[in-house]
Order: sequence, then C-alpha cells, then structure tokens
Amino acid sequence: MGVPRFWREIPNRYNLIGTRCGTCNKIFFPPRYICPSCRRTGKLEPYKLGGKGKIVSYTVTYVAPNGFEDQAPYVMAIIELDEGPKLTAQVTDCSPGQVRIGDRVEMVFRRMGQEGEDGPIYYGYKFRLA
Ligand SMILES: [Zn+2]
Repeated sequence: MGVPRFWREIPNRYNLIGTRCGTCNKIFFPPRYICPSCRRTGKLEPYKLGGKGKIVSYTVTYVAPNGFEDQAPYVMAIIELDEGPKLTAQVTDCSPGQVRIGDRVEMVFRRMGQEGEDGPIYYGYKFRLA
C-alpha cells in the first residue's frame, strides 16, 4: 500500500502528526493507516497532536550509544499525550533527578545526532518539563 496523498502534503517535520479514526475517534501515534477497532470501516485522517502530556514511566541512560555520548546521562520516558497515545522520547533540559512520574511535559524540537563529523545533523522531537 502506498503512502496516502494527504500524508505527503502535510508538513509533519515540525509537528507531531498522528492519525484519528473518523469512526471511533481514537487517535494514534505513531500514525496508523488501519484502525485496530474499526478495521476497514474506519477512515483514518491526519491529526495534529498538541505535544503536551505526562510522564508515565522513565529510565535514566548512563551509557549512551555511539554518537550520543555527550548527552549521557539522559532520561528516556514513556509519555502519555493528552490525546491518549503513548510514545517514548528523551526528556531534555533537566537533570535525571528532576524527573518524576506524573510530571507534565511538552514537546520541543532538538538536535538528535549527527552522521559523522561533517555529516547531516538530524532533528526530532524531545520533551521537556512543562
Ligand atoms: Zn476506529
């Protein structure tokens, strides 16, 4: 199945875009193309998430993978968005001791890493305490 046309038309690089089922109104992130409840009767459409939520659990990473050494220690959290979906993301702009389960967070765009010394820099979403 190809990527639906609406998907390519949406500038989703700087937005948190999920999908919403027009039949049961469930919201999905990462985006899904088939609603697990409605199956083929569900019509999924793009949905812009507000980027706010709360921390439901987290772990502190002390040994970072290659290319991320300068960021350790850092916090990876499971975040429940206000719209319902859960996602895993880094919590930035804080020390690991500041993070508590239930804390409100908001999405920010940050540098994620770089491919080689002169390679492209990747940006993506992280969250910070709100
Ligand atoms: Zn549905």
